[in-house]
Amino acid sequence: MTSKKQTTTRTLNRLRTKVLVTLSLVILSVTVIITTYNLLHEKEDANLRMAQAYSSVNLTYKETIRDTIHFYTARANANLSTPGVLEAFCARDHEKLYQLMLPRWDVMRKENPSLIVMQFHKADGTSLLRMHQPMVYSDSIATQRSMVAYIHKHHTITSGFEEGIQGLAFRILVPILDHGDYLGAVEFGISTSYIFEKIYRYTHYESFFLIHQKYLGRLSHTNHYLPMGDYMGIDVPAKLLPLVKQYPSRQEFLTNRVVTFKNQSFLISTVPVMNYHDQPMGAIVFVKSVPDFWSHVLQMVIASSLIAITLILIVGVIINKIYTIIANKMHFQEFYNQTILDAIPSPVIVTNGHELTAANQTLLAYLSYETLEDFKRDHECVCEYFEEGDTDEYLLPMQNDQRWTEFIRKHPQISHKAKITIEGKTTIFDVKLSALEFKEDTRYVVIFTDISSMQSIAITDPLTGVANRLHFSMIYEHAINVARREQKSLGGIFFDIDHFKQINDNYGHLSGDEVLKRIPMLIKQRIRKSDILARWGGEEFIILLPNTSLEETAKIAEILRLTIESENFETVGTITCSFGVATLKENESPDELLKRLDELLYVAKESGRNQVIVQS
Ligand code: GH3
Ligand code: MG
Ligand code: MG
Repeated sequence: MTSKKQTTTRTLNRLRTKVLVTLSLVILSVTVIITTYNLLHEKEDANLRMAQAYSSVNLTYKETIRDTIHFYTARANANLSTPGVLEAFCARDHEKLYQLMLPRWDVMRKENPSLIVMQFHKADGTSLLRMHQPMVYSDSIATQRSMVAYIHKHHTITSGFEEGIQGLAFRILVPILDHGDYLGAVEFGISTSYIFEKIYRYTHYESFFLIHQKYLGRLSHTNHYLPMGDYMGIDVPAKLLPLVKQYPSRQEFLTNRVVTFKNQSFLISTVPVMNYHDQPMGAIVFVKSVPDFWSHVLQMVIASSLIAITLILIVGVIINKIYTIIANKMHFQEFYNQTILDAIPSPVIVTNGHELTAANQTLLAYLSYETLEDFKRDHECVCEYFEEGDTDEYLLPMQNDQRWTEFIRKHPQISHKAKITIEGKTTIFDVKLSALEFKEDTRYVVIFTDISSMQSIAITDPLTGVANRLHFSMIYEHAINVARREQKSLGGIFFDIDHFKQINDNYGHLSGDEVLKRIPMLIKQRIRKSDILARWGGEEFIILLPNTSLEETAKIAEILRLTIESENFETVGTITCSFGVATLKENESPDELLKRLDELLYVAKESGRNQVIVQS
């Protein structure tokens, strides 16, 4: 049972390993395929990401600029429509305008701290009021600032980046009109950080300006300037300084691209910056740190591996769970099967025709083995124990060139026996086989029923203890078959007690019985072990002598006749017998030989009894 359990466990373990390895390989292959596919598309994806980044930055920038222009145009108009403002402006009343504007300036500064400039320009090119610097005015600013000169000439809303006393700022100039007459302009200036912060909030890009030198340097250097060839880097965040300084030639920052710096990749998007009349001044450079291509690849590989390992672990756990359930079920099933087998009092085996797959305790105990494995170490087949019997019913390992199991299966109509001798004790078994077929697999359940005692009762004459007529008929055919197969002579002696009726009549049946019991004893002492003596019926006996010639048979018959004749039987005294002697002829049927023996005995009786008549 234990070894059987181990076999099943081993088979199951092997199956579990196979399933696990296969599934793991499948998971790994799928992961490798997906990862490879992703990696192959990674370059494309990177380009796509860059295009998306560029468009998002561009859009955010444009929206921010547009909103700022709209917002401050509206603020300008609101300010100008405040009662007294236009009058003060026309009257060049610097002080009054300042007083009127001050509350509004405070509010606007609160709503947007990046508002750094609010200035009223007179149409003659002079500055009337700087809210951010109220003490400086009346200077001729239009000659310094081309944007101001531009609006004085064109009288339309003008916006763009321009440097002023406050440094580089985004400026919106709104014309001051009175019934269509151009009086001057009001200017708002927003610090560049306002734009950068807004874009950072939406896109998480750090940004700075890259402005051509010719648009700079005339008024102020409030902003942080970093010379880069013909260009100037402005408001470069401290974080980006090392990177920007690495590329002093600005080229790297004027196209969308990925640059690598200190094992770190940066996605660079640039948005061209136009001045108020659409001349390109440079660009706003947006920089975002992105995982570098190879570290991205590494990340992907690590992520894929982690996913694969997790999946394998999950699959492993599930398979283990299933394995445990199946193993328990199978062990129970085996235990159950073995219990049933062991409950059968007769020896039982299960075989696939070549190998023993199970055996019950009765069989193992009978053959003196503890376990099936022990048995299998010494034997391949139970049939190794089979011995030749005295009839054709006895099984041998190979029967008519077929394995014994196959033979039983092909001949279910006849009875099969096995003769096994263990430690000198011979047992006769009736052998029954049930075949069980499932798909390609065949199992034979073979039950060995001990019929030794039944057998001897059925085939032994109870009075004399020799073979009865039934047994004789079984032995007889087998003996003829063996003689023919081995081309040996088979002798037969048929004899009958003379005037037995008289013995019965004179001395009684019991005395007759005593004679009947005594005669086989006398005969057995004078024939070989391999010779077969049977009671044919009444006071007639038959002897078969394998491998014995006619002369030898006749000689033995004569010896028997003399032995009986010279024996002094209790009560009865002496008796005689008449004998017919013959040997099996070629092509003679079993019945024909019996018939001849009977006829020869008849001749012996007719010729005066107490004699041996041998075939002529
Ligand atoms: P023959 O010399 O011609 O053989 O004469 P016989 O008397 O021996 O032959 P018959 O056939 O006339 O008689 C046989 C007798 O054997 C008849 C029967 O009562 C007796 N007999 C048969 N079986 C038994 C038995 O088991 N016990 C006893 N005591 N007698 C038996
Ligand atoms: Mg007789
Ligand atoms: Mg008789």
